[in-house]
Amino acid sequence: MSDNLSWESALNKLKEGNSNFVSDRIDGVLDNYKTNEDMVKGQSPFAIILSCADSRVVPELVFDAGIGEIFVIRVAGNVSNTSSVASLEYAVAHLGVNLILVLGHENCGAVSAAIGGGDNGHNLNHLLCHITPALHACETNEVNDVVKVNAHLTCKQIVSKSAIVQNAVDSGNLKLVPGFYNLATGKVDFMES
Ligand SMILES: [Zn+2]
Repeated sequence: MSDNLSWESALNKLKEGNSNFVSDRIDGVLDNYKTNEDMVKGQSPFAIILSCADSRVVPELVFDAGIGEIFVIRVAGNVSNTSSVASLEYAVAHLGVNLILVLGHENCGAVSAAIGGGDNGHNLNHLLCHITPALHACETNEVNDVVKVNAHLTCKQIVSKSAIVQNAVDSGNLKLVPGFYNLATGKVDFMES
């Protein structure tokens, strides 16, 4: 895995890709489709994206990335549940990916539902309970404020829930970055600290 991109290079590549997308300069997601043979041999994505399932947020397009370039996990509210954490653990431990971007987005319906509260039925209640900590931590009830806090907290929760991630962070190789996707412009705000 020594040829894997550092988190700094991976982050710059995502920023470049998003800049291409915003200025309508995407070069076509299939441009870098190598050969069937290469694809069968294995995968070597340079970044992990934990994104909402919202149809308006499409990571491969948003970051001008081709097949095999980004390891995308999508779940409403981009929450760190057992399955999403297990999925990204695979990409950290077995694919050597050094960057995790947790991508929240403007006007997220899952976050709005969490703000609304009430009984949303067994499955959705279970999902929304992962957003509850952001509701408590956020100073306002405004959806986009809560989305940003949720992306920050999800990064922290991933580390606390995963020894694999914790170890990679401690070694200095892995970085988690919260992001916010603006629906109207397509721009991603990278909220790295
Ligand atoms: Zn959403």
